[in-house]
Amino acid sequence: MLEIIAETLRATIAVALILAGSLAILIWVRNNTRKLSALRLFIQIAAVAVIFLGLIIGPFGLERWSYLGTAPKDITIGKEILGRPYPDGLTVPTFSCYYASGRTATCVIWQLQSYLFPNYGTSSIYLTTGLERLAIAVGLLVVISVIFGRFLCGWICPFGLYMDLLTRLRKALKIRHWTLSDRVNEGLRQARYLIIAAFLILSFLLGMRAIAGVELISESELGRYLEIPFCQICPAKPLFVLVEGALGFMDVDYMLSQTIGDFALTGWYLTSINIVILGVVTVGSFMIRRLWCRICPLGGLIALFSRFGPFKKISLIKLTKVEEKCTKCGICKRVCPPQVTEVYEDKGGDVTVSSCILCFRCVEMCPYEGCLNVEFAGKPIYKSKNWLNEEE
Ligand code: SF4
Ligand code: SF4
Ligand code: SF4
Repeated sequence: MLEIIAETLRATIAVALILAGSLAILIWVRNNTRKLSALRLFIQIAAVAVIFLGLIIGPFGLERWSYLGTAPKDITIGKEILGRPYPDGLTVPTFSCYYASGRTATCVIWQLQSYLFPNYGTSSIYLTTGLERLAIAVGLLVVISVIFGRFLCGWICPFGLYMDLLTRLRKALKIRHWTLSDRVNEGLRQARYLIIAAFLILSFLLGMRAIAGVELISESELGRYLEIPFCQICPAKPLFVLVEGALGFMDVDYMLSQTIGDFALTGWYLTSINIVILGVVTVGSFMIRRLWCRICPLGGLIALFSRFGPFKKISLIKLTKVEEKCTKCGICKRVCPPQVTEVYEDKGGDVTVSSCILCFRCVEMCPYEGCLNVEFAGKPIYKSKNWLNEEE
C-alpha cells in the first residue's frame, strides 16, 4: 500500500513539474516560429527523464539485475499485473531499450520478439504465460498507437531526441543538411514493414530451435543471442547502454563479457555490429534529419495501428489542412524533418500520413492563419499563425 502511495506521489510530482515547465516555455518564448519547437524539446527531455526514471530515483527493483550496476532495471511500474509478477516492464512503443538500466518501460520490439518464441521466460520469475505477455504487449501497442500515433516519435522517443540533438548541432555548426530524393524516401518508408516482418518471423523461427526435428539453432550462447535478432542490429541499444556506462550506472566490462565471436560480434549488450550501426546512423542523422526514423520498424509499427485501415478513422491526433488558405509557398515541405511531402501536395482535409512524426514543425512554420491545424479527437488544439505580419 505504502509503495502505491509513494509511486502515485512521485508520478504526481513528475506531471506537475512537466506541466509547470511547459507553461513557463509557452509564456517566455514569444517568437511564434520557435515556441512549439522549444516546448517539444522540453517534453522530449522530460520524457527521457521519465523513461529512465529508475536512474534518477533508483536503485530499487529486482535483485537479479544488481550485477549490472547501481540502478537495477524493472522498477515497480508494471512489476505487478494480473496480480502476478510482470518483470519485463510495461510496453511503451518507443526505444525505451530493454537492455538499459533504470528504465520504467520496455521497448515493444524486444517484447514482441521475446514473447513470440516459446522458450522464453520459462523460469519461475515469469508467472504470466507467454501468451498473456504477448497479449498485453500487443494490446498496449495498439491502444497507445491509436491514442498518440506517431506523436510518440515526434515528442517522446529517446532515440528521436538523439537525432534532433544531432540536427541542432549541425545547425549550430552552420552545415547545410542533405535531402534524399522522394523515391529513396518512399523506398525507406516501405522497407520498414519488410524489416519488422522479417525480424519477427526470424525471431519466431529461431526461437522454436527445431521444426519437424530439424535443428534450426543450437542451445548455444549464440543461439540465445540470435533469438532476439533485431536487438543485434538496433542502433538505440549501444547508445543507451554506453551513456549509462559513461554515467557509471552500468558496468561496461560486464556488458562486454556478454558477447561471443571475433570482435564481440553478437551478445546482449555492446556488440561490434550494434556500435558500427550506431556510428553509421549517427553520421547519417547528422547530415539527414531523422534519418533512422525513415526506416525505423518501430515507427512503422506505430503507423500501422494509427494510419491504416480502421485505425486511421479512430486515431485521435490528426494534422489537417484548409486548402483555400494554402498558397503553395512550400515552407511546410522545407521544414519537415522526415521530408514528408503530402502536407504540401495533398488537397485539404486530413493530411496525416504514416511517415509524419507529428512534430508539428510544419504547423508552427506555415505563415497562413489556420491553414494547417492539429486536431485531437476532432477538436482543433493548435493552428498555424500569420507570423509574417507579427514580424513587421
Ligand atoms: S535493442 Fe533496440 S529493439 Fe532491442 S530492446 Fe533495445 S531498443 Fe528495443
Ligand atoms: S521512428 Fe523509431 S527512432 Fe524514430 S522516433 Fe519513432 S520509434 Fe523513435
Ligand atoms: S508533416 Fe509536419 S508534423 Fe509531420 S513530420 Fe513533417 S513537419 Fe512534422
